[in-house]
Amino acid sequence: MSNLKILIVEDEDAIREMLVMVLEHASFQVIEAATAEMALQRMAEETPDLILLDWMLPGMSGVDFARRMKKEESFHDLPIILLTARGEEEDKVRGFELGVDDYVTKPFSPKELVARVKAVMRRSGKLFDIKQLVIGDFILDKEQHRLSVNGESIEVSPTEFKLMNFFMENPDKVYSRTQLLDKVWGRSVYIEERTVDVHIRRLRKVLAKYGQDQAVQTVRGFGYRFSI
Ligand code: CA
Repeated sequence: MSNLKILIVEDEDAIREMLVMVLEHASFQVIEAATAEMALQRMAEETPDLILLDWMLPGMSGVDFARRMKKEESFHDLPIILLTARGEEEDKVRGFELGVDDYVTKPFSPKELVARVKAVMRRSGKLFDIKQLVIGDFILDKEQHRLSVNGESIEVSPTEFKLMNFFMENPDKVYSRTQLLDKVWGRSVYIEERTVDVHIRRLRKVLAKYGQDQAVQTVRGFGYRFSI
């Protein structure tokens, strides 16, 4: 049982109840609020470690709540993940401008949500002990240095393992070759950008044996994305 607390701000009962169930199952403590006003009240009683914030709320909107959080000295470092509906691209941009940490698009899978929550918690230094990343049929075990899909172990090189580790911590986001070099190989080494393509190609070849090569996607003119 983790002592990390997540505040869920969501007005739709069915979604909020689902979120509570999923996050409790992932060993988080949960605080619930159906409105932003209620969330402020709850936060006066106890401070969460992360806020899962629905964008469309009655009364004070998610954007106003996030703006208010980022202005308050005691809360501005608190990670926020937005819940948005598909197609609300403008909201995501506004959210990122406000300084929110990530967003999850509805409808989402419980596994994806938990992975996002853990990734944000890890980035903000709240979670150090994540040994397993689970996304779709992929499981990456950091301790055993093992990658598996559909329960079958996949043999990959150390670099490709690091690449998968980075992708699984940051699913659905597009990274340029330069960004991947920085994040996976490290800034200090000089490697040509096409090295990234070589490793991606090899990784896809291995994943293809398990029918999962489409998980590593090329975004033309920009780079690569891991998405299930
Ligand atoms: Ca809503």
